[in-house]
Amino acid sequence: MSTFKAPKGTYDLLPPDSAKFLAVREAIAAPLRGSGYGYIETPGFENVELFARGVGESTDIVTKEMYAFETKGGDRLALRPEGTASVLRAALEANLHKTGNLPVKLWYSGSYYRYERPQKGRYRHFSQVGAEAIGAEDPALDAELIILADQAYRSLGLRNFRILLNSLGDKECRPVYREALQTFLRGLDLDEDTLRRAEINPLRVLDDKRESVQKQLGGAPLLRDYLCDACKAYHEEVRELVTAAGVVFEDDPKLVRGLDYYTRTTFEFVHDGLGSQSAVGGGGRYDGLSEMIGGPALPSVGWALGVDRTVLALEAEGVELELPATTSVFAVPLGDEARRVLFAKVTELRKNGVAADFAFGGKGLKAAMKAANRSGARYALVLGERDIEQGVVQLKDMESGEQTAVGMNEIVAELESRLG
Ligand code: AMP
Repeated sequence: MSTFKAPKGTYDLLPPDSAKFLAVREAIAAPLRGSGYGYIETPGFENVELFARGVGESTDIVTKEMYAFETKGGDRLALRPEGTASVLRAALEANLHKTGNLPVKLWYSGSYYRYERPQKGRYRHFSQVGAEAIGAEDPALDAELIILADQAYRSLGLRNFRILLNSLGDKECRPVYREALQTFLRGLDLDEDTLRRAEINPLRVLDDKRESVQKQLGGAPLLRDYLCDACKAYHEEVRELVTAAGVVFEDDPKLVRGLDYYTRTTFEFVHDGLGSQSAVGGGGRYDGLSEMIGGPALPSVGWALGVDRTVLALEAEGVELELPATTSVFAVPLGDEARRVLFAKVTELRKNGVAADFAFGGKGLKAAMKAANRSGARYALVLGERDIEQGVVQLKDMESGEQTAVGMNEIVAELESRLG
């Protein structure tokens, strides 16, 4: 124990559990890689204005949760609370929308930061894998992303998740709905804070988790009933394409998301084994975001899936990922000469693609075999003085316990063939 602990709301990923995180990231990325999405990495911090304008001045993320700071050089920066604004900023800056195919399809994986009240499933530092398809208005693109997320979760073995789907309308129909909702909210018995929110961002009141508020929202007008014909047709097409792919979803007319940039299609993936922090991922269409951050009109759609909560969801369902042992061969030298010879063998094995580890620190046979056991290696190589004289090494099968002497010059080929 040192004097220091991980900061509040954060935790460390340690082996062996950290392997699960890598596997989840990999599983989410795999369907994207296979669908034309290219990898993008952006800085961990951006100009604070990018998020204020992109995510929305009135959102909790910007008003309460952002790690914003001024640098010694006087720049106003913020640790990124989400990925979309940064990815779009980077794509516009590099002119990807002019030089390549539209849509520009990108995926990312990284750390995000929100100053939230920590609890299980809600952290101040968390990981997402995300995807953005920039510069096309096509219901098939919205459907593609929903289908790929479903595929990612299923490939991990997750079953008890649900997909919630809604349309938030566009700049034609949403303002009309907004007015109607505001009029309705003004007539309710709400606290001052909520009334203020109703004036700035009435849709977000629908998302209020408090029962006292939810009880009053029963008769609230629904956006569904205000969608313009274009939005209705678009949404219907998304629903049909997703359904045709065999992906089951629920229409959720009250689904709004905590970010202001969404238009038309919005969706969330929720897992029923997670308690209050049930959203494992979410996304939607953000046709106006590019213009909000000073770019051209570029209708786009994307999602971000939370890695931390996906791992919790796997645990809640009791899904054990099949994680292959990281070490296949563990080498145990007995004596100085053996150390030199065997260390060279380990290097050779590694060069040949065999995952190998070594008993470091001059351990005796007993402690070294214990280390071999812990490593999960299928085979141990034991080399003593007599073996050196005879030009062999002892190959021990850690599962059967069977031990055979193999010629020093044959051992690499022998292990390669045994490990397939
Ligand atoms: P959002 O952009 O807020 O919809 O976040 C997308 C996904 O990221 C969520 O569904 C969560 O899985 C994950 N996420 C967001 N905030 C946190 C947090 N504070 N801690 C852990 N995961 C989070």
